Amino acid sequence: MDDSLRVLSTEVLIAGGGPCGLMLANELGRRGIRTLLVDMKPGTAFNPQANATQARTMEHFRRLGFAQEVRAQGLPADHPTDIAYFTRYTGYELARLSLPTAEQAVRNVRGMTGSWSAAELPHRVSQKFVEAVLRRHAEAHAGNDVRYGWQLLEFRDTGEDIVARVQPTAGGPVQEVRARYLVGADGPRSLVRRTLGIPWAGASGVRRDFMGGQMFAVYLRAPGFYEVFPHARAWMYVSFNAQRRAFMASVDGRAEFAFHAAVHEGEDADAWGEADARRVFAQALGREIDIEVLSCGTWTAGHSLVAQSFQRGRVFIAGDAAHLFTPTGGLGYNTAVEDAVNLGWKLASVLRGAAPPSLLDSYEPERQPLAVRNTGYARQFADSVGLYPARPVLEEGSAAGAQERAAASEHLNAHVRLEFNIPGVTFGGRYDGSPVIVPDGNAPPPDAANDYVPTACPGGRPPHAWLADGRSLFDTFHVEWTLLALGPEPPDVAPFIRSSQAMGMDLKVVHHPDPALRELYEAPLALIRPDQIVAWRGSEAEDAERVLRRARGG
Ligand SMILES: Cc1cc2nc3c(=O)[nH]c(=O)nc-3n(C[C@H](O)[C@H](O)[C@H](O)COP(=O)(O)OP(=O)(O)OC[C@H]3O[C@@H](n4cnc5c(N)ncnc54)[C@H](O)[C@@H]3O)c2cc1C
Repeated sequence: MDDSLRVLSTEVLIAGGGPCGLMLANELGRRGIRTLLVDMKPGTAFNPQANATQARTMEHFRRLGFAQEVRAQGLPADHPTDIAYFTRYTGYELARLSLPTAEQAVRNVRGMTGSWSAAELPHRVSQKFVEAVLRRHAEAHAGNDVRYGWQLLEFRDTGEDIVARVQPTAGGPVQEVRARYLVGADGPRSLVRRTLGIPWAGASGVRRDFMGGQMFAVYLRAPGFYEVFPHARAWMYVSFNAQRRAFMASVDGRAEFAFHAAVHEGEDADAWGEADARRVFAQALGREIDIEVLSCGTWTAGHSLVAQSFQRGRVFIAGDAAHLFTPTGGLGYNTAVEDAVNLGWKLASVLRGAAPPSLLDSYEPERQPLAVRNTGYARQFADSVGLYPARPVLEEGSAAGAQERAAASEHLNAHVRLEFNIPGVTFGGRYDGSPVIVPDGNAPPPDAANDYVPTACPGGRPPHAWLADGRSLFDTFHVEWTLLALGPEPPDVAPFIRSSQAMGMDLKVVHHPDPALRELYEAPLALIRPDQIVAWRGSEAEDAERVLRRARGG
């Protein structure tokens, strides 16, 4: 039969193979769900795009078994990951936050406590490398049909299923697809969101000297950069002067960089080409050197937009399709990954009959407030750096220049710690008020960007600990539901075992006798969801059926 006439049947149609769509294919594929992922690009990202994988995202990559593989990408293992600010790259250094190399991160995390007690620390790596890892793992699952060079043309939700049309981007016969669900992980201009008619809420068009307005992005090779760069190496290089503000992330630790410069009012950067890329880069560097321009283009900073709805019937939106960030704090891609983590196990549970469809109604109330929170943090960071002016006197060799630089140093040294040391942002996201979280009457610690107080208060990330045998507590969690039984004499867990079996829930009891863990969790029992969120905690199992029923959506 002609391919164009055959209806392709799948369980989840994923539009978009950026980090969100690929992560979703991983979550679903590992659970045996059949997906069709289409992306109109010929392959994963060529441009570096996002630069930072936050610690919580790395913990999810660890859960899926490829955190080490991701950590091996990008910079060499011994390359510094400092964030440093200069008047120009060959000018004065103004501020610096030193952070561990990839090698040190793996070692250091084992001794970290308090806010940074974690299975993984952040990793500074370009999104293009992460996408390649995510794609490889997504394609390893037999149920995933990953098609780059294919686009979603249109779709309709019949109430029973999704009927969609996809087509090779290069042309060719249109293919009809039938799926149980559709997820629009199709980026900022999402066809899925627009078809559903879901409007944005929030702010856009915010103007700042930096990180508010048009930006000019250049992916470049500058093999001579370190020959002229007079300071200690970093990962992120920020240029702070009155002529041109810019930031630049090292992509490979050698010659490749992702350079982003603020465009001024009156400049027409959409018309800029390679010569302009060289000119603008030279302004940030403070001199000219040979560079090879691999790509350039514009993008807009100053968005903090969240879609007014994340779900209509059998259709969901996630990632940039559902929220648009200003990249300060590096939260856009990380929030996109967490959307996929949240939606993945829920779709799989419903498709396998292990949970009622009402479980899916918890996606929006859990992820939309998180998107509002995270876009808010990104906006706060953008204000902190972008509203602080760079005056011409900053570069003068005079006493006035020195004074201006001292003031800038003070501000930027405080700012860099605000934007780049964010355990509270990465670990502190919570689903309080969700219909599938069972509250225990306690209030969680206040939300704060730079401080994270571990708490097993239901609705958030479980507190982390390293076990006496060297394992991460998180590595002992089951891939689906985990009931933690903590302390030397935890209560009888039989009711949880009985009820989970009766409900078809895949639950594993994990006993850790160490009293310190019982103390950390402030309870002997805690129910951990497949996405490593505390659904419930308590001191007796009598209520197991009610707890499990609520946590799985009814
Ligand atoms: C220059 C630049 C710098 C950035 N820097 C940072 C940063 O430092 N930190 C950070 O966190 N974020 C940053 N971001 C944002 C980050 O890249 C995004 O938040 C992230 O890519 C979102 O992932 P996603 O999977 O939701 O969407 P995307 O990565 O946009 O993926 C969507 C995919 O959908 C595909 N698609 C669209 N329509 C269709 C269709 N009809 N059919 C099939 N496929 C379709 C597209 O081809 C695309 O591959 C940056 C972005 C850019 C452009």
